[in-house]
Amino acid sequence: MSTEQKYDIIIVGAGAAGLSLASRIAETPELNDKRILLLDRELKSGNDRTWCFWEHGKGNYDDVLTQSWHNVYFHSKYVSRRLGLQPYAYKMLRSNDFYNQTQSIVKASSNVDFVIDSVDEIDSQKGRVVGKNSVYLADIIFSSKFPDGLDFSNHLYTDQHFGGWFVEFEDDVFDQEAATFMDFRIDQNDEHRFCYVLPINSKKALVEVAIFSNTHQNKDGYDNIIRKYIEDYISKSKYKIDEKEYGVIPMTNYPFWKHNNGKLYHIGTAGGAVKPSSGFAFRRIQQHTERIVNCLKTNTSIKNSYKVFRGRHLLYDSIMLHVLEEQKVAGDKVFSDLFEKTDVDVILRFLDGDTSWSGDLQIMKAPAKWPFIKGMAKVISPLK
Ligand SMILES: Cc1cc2nc3c(=O)[nH]c(=O)nc-3n(C[C@H](O)[C@H](O)[C@H](O)COP(=O)(O)OP(=O)(O)OC[C@H]3O[C@@H](n4cnc5c(N)ncnc54)[C@H](O)[C@@H]3O)c2cc1C
Repeated sequence: MSTEQKYDIIIVGAGAAGLSLASRIAETPELNDKRILLLDRELKSGNDRTWCFWEHGKGNYDDVLTQSWHNVYFHSKYVSRRLGLQPYAYKMLRSNDFYNQTQSIVKASSNVDFVIDSVDEIDSQKGRVVGKNSVYLADIIFSSKFPDGLDFSNHLYTDQHFGGWFVEFEDDVFDQEAATFMDFRIDQNDEHRFCYVLPINSKKALVEVAIFSNTHQNKDGYDNIIRKYIEDYISKSKYKIDEKEYGVIPMTNYPFWKHNNGKLYHIGTAGGAVKPSSGFAFRRIQQHTERIVNCLKTNTSIKNSYKVFRGRHLLYDSIMLHVLEEQKVAGDKVFSDLFEKTDVDVILRFLDGDTSWSGDLQIMKAPAKWPFIKGMAKVISPLK
């Protein structure tokens, strides 16, 4: 093994979180004197995931979006609504475009080295990263590799598992001005199941089914739900499937930041970026990235950046998870109440952890109160 290589900052993992952080640092003139190492066991490429997220105004990835919408549909057996999102846009970014954009920023920078190496061990006190090919040292390490010893048993935990098809119809069947954010009209099967539709144009869309539960389907299971959904709610006319995607996102109130210590800070899913009650992570990764860059610029503690995942919004997330997963209150009813009684921009700000107390109150007042009061009583003690 070669001698130890010294950097100011090491970023382990060049996926959504690592590449977001490395490219933002590369674009920050105040940090040009920092020597950065970005490490991954592989060079990510291709469309291994499709990110959807909402954003207010212009964002870092606007030039490479596949599509964006200013309207969304919400459907359930209780309510059907088409909602304007202004001032937000709901955006679709395919991973290949994200990897290309961020990797080329990193490549063009003079202070970020991107090295392919698989990391076996991180010594948080010494700031030492042991890879298969070399050993690296730094004052600060950001890692999207999961910490050792994760134990979810004392915390709320459920998977969001999903399957999706990129479909292309011969006829115009989609309203390309509006994405379907959630459609609960499908058979719930004692779980929380919804489909969503992300139209690229009037003939092409990504149609997905997402399920909140710990019992995963095999690929045929997701495929059957999507096929039936298309037939029942989109069109019976002819279409072809261009691509498929499947995935799992952990939804938990586990305090990932407790694994930060010494020189080591976790980012992305491993750092707690997945919103516990919804599974959305991309937007939170961007919010966290901005906060980390700010801490680096102002030479303040990186610990401050984790406030974005904590505070009262984590309590609300935990209550929501409790209501859905422990009390098994029907998700289609909870979300229907929310979308029927609350302004959509308040819902999006709430999901961003950006509501004022009055916005929080609007959200809390919408669904039936008793399960939420019960949920609050249950989750307050483990969060202390
Ligand atoms: C199919 C799919 C679709 C999703 N869609 C959405 C969405 O629409 N909206 C949303 O908000 N969220 C979505 N998510 C959730 C979340 O945004 C993604 O999972 C996101 O990629 C998480 O970013 P990350 O950097 O934590 O992990 P990743 O993007 O998986 O990156 C982790 C990186 O670390 C590297 N790595 C791990 N261990 C080591 C090691 N030992 N040595 C070296 N390198 C290592 C891996 O190779 C990888 O490149 C989706 C997730 C999936 C799986």
